[in-house]
Amino acid sequence: MQKWGRPSACGGLSGRRFGYRMINVTREAWATMVAHAEKTFPNECCGAMAGRIDGDEKQVTLAVPMENSYTGAQGARYELRPEDLLAADRKARAAGLDLIGVFHSHPDCDAYFSKTDLENSCPWYSFVVISIKGGKFDHANSFLPNADQTAAEKEELLWPKS
Ligand SMILES: [Zn+2]
Repeated sequence: MQKWGRPSACGGLSGRRFGYRMINVTREAWATMVAHAEKTFPNECCGAMAGRIDGDEKQVTLAVPMENSYTGAQGARYELRPEDLLAADRKARAAGLDLIGVFHSHPDCDAYFSKTDLENSCPWYSFVVISIKGGKFDHANSFLPNADQTAAEKEELLWPKS
């Protein structure tokens, strides 16, 4: 189910073993992600996250909102266009950053990683799921799919509180 091209810069990631992982989102990027998720409610939103990777610690400094391209009901499903992801990658590189992952929202639903999310994922990105309840941010989690996309491990997600 590998629909996206593997970025050469991340080629070594899939063979690594899971350990302690942390993803830290800066205030500006987090505000962009939450605003996009709340605005898109009651539909799912999606977008890309870019920043820097330092060992097992990632810092997201740029969030790029993308359009949910799923043609059916978008209340419980999202799809992103590969060309939109490519454009986000170009934008990140132009700013001297790397693409770190993808975020999407779960309207009126908890921030878990669904079977569909796992199937549509890829093992070299972090996947942040934002729970929006009644149109407002509730909580969020980040997941790291394994190499064959049979499971995803939760990683510690830090965002600016207030
Ligand atoms: Zn989902």
